Amino acid sequence: MGKLKELGYLDSEEKIKHSCGVFGISSSQEVYSLIYSGLYALQHRGQEAAGMVTWDERQGKLSSIYGSGLIKDAFEPKKLSRLKGNVGMGHVRYSTAGSKGVKNVQPLKVSVHGKKVILAHNGEIANAPQLRRSLKQRGIWPKSNSDSEVIALSLASLLLQTNDFGTSMEQVMRQLRGAYSLIVFADGELFAARDPHGIRPLCIGQTERSCVVASESVALDILGAKLVRDVGEGEIIKITPQKAEIIARVKGSPSYCMFEYVYFARGDSFLQGKEVQAVREEIGRSLAREHSVEADVVVPIPDSGRSHALGYSRESGIPYQEGLMKNRYVPRTFIMPTQAKRKFGVRLKLNPVKGVIRGKRVVLVDDSIVRGTTIGWIVHMLKNEGAKEVHVRIATPPIRAPCYFGINMKTKKQLAASKRSIEEIRLSTGADSLGYSSIDGLVKSIGLPKGSLCLGCLTGKYPT
Ligand code: SF4
Repeated sequence: MGKLKELGYLDSEEKIKHSCGVFGISSSQEVYSLIYSGLYALQHRGQEAAGMVTWDERQGKLSSIYGSGLIKDAFEPKKLSRLKGNVGMGHVRYSTAGSKGVKNVQPLKVSVHGKKVILAHNGEIANAPQLRRSLKQRGIWPKSNSDSEVIALSLASLLLQTNDFGTSMEQVMRQLRGAYSLIVFADGELFAARDPHGIRPLCIGQTERSCVVASESVALDILGAKLVRDVGEGEIIKITPQKAEIIARVKGSPSYCMFEYVYFARGDSFLQGKEVQAVREEIGRSLAREHSVEADVVVPIPDSGRSHALGYSRESGIPYQEGLMKNRYVPRTFIMPTQAKRKFGVRLKLNPVKGVIRGKRVVLVDDSIVRGTTIGWIVHMLKNEGAKEVHVRIATPPIRAPCYFGINMKTKKQLAASKRSIEEIRLSTGADSLGYSSIDGLVKSIGLPKGSLCLGCLTGKYPT
């Protein structure tokens, strides 16, 4: 693995990776196919591994299935129907904490002196090492290096003492520092919880026969479930087929991750009452007002720049055209033996549409710049194809600081804007101009109060 990494993947690791997606359901009907569909809708949040657990109340039996890769590869269809029961949960994983591979696939199951807890987690716990040490001091030994296991074991050990989920979960939440949207199965019942800052999303949906909780509302849409509301910050909720009921609450204040709006969530999801696609278009409009330029065509970097580019085009009146075609069939682990071939890798993935580019002044729009290498190659490629000028516009303000809440930006040195000025980045990309959204422009476009958003990776000031 290490060797391949040195050689460089076609996937340049330029894009920020999602953390995970969670889905839980309590129903009056069998749930395995509903969980399966819900996970499909959340596939964009994690492609490394997936898992499902169901509970058959009549037989008192848990069933589970796990696998690596995309859902279509992770689960064998004939094994799915063996997952009996009316309650269950699922998880799609991209590892940000804990090692990769099937060992840390979720939902994870733990048991402390016979008290079982099944848990699916989206987020990251910053103080997991301290909590792991404290568990060991009490004779409870985690089997993995996963922060989610620390939550599950802490909860199981408290449930042993209290036999009350709300009280136990509340106590665990008071110890946790970080981001967590959780779905938990314990003592035959299904629960959900969101951290006191609501950093990662979690929402509730309802059909006639089922109550659903999921990372994003698109997972409700696929079941025909009505979006009831987002789970509030610090809420602990019990889920039955008829309703989601708050059983306890830890006081907090919102700090929703701004990146969910800019890039992570699907455009057709609603987060805190805002439709993500509309927010992205508004960011593009704001970007056009903040960084206008004389140009002939607005070109998105597919797929992440599309909605922002559309907004930029509508506001500026410069026509929008697809000037880069994406090859969707290039595998992630296509090995690029040298730096030169990595450039070739970008070309294999994205190819200019000559008629759109040649002789034109191009506004090239993307959601964010992390390392800044890929954008430089794309600018170079467009100029080689005869673009007269390339003006880069970026929806996210400069990312200057790491994220500790479940996103794979762990060190400052990964980040182009941590040490370089915007002009230095522009020079390194070869763009004729470079404009980022301002923080205020971004916040206004999202349409929520500034104080209710996490902007940690932009400002270095974190909610916890
Ligand atoms: S630091 Fe950035 S990526 Fe991480 S949660 Fe906050 S806004 Fe999101």
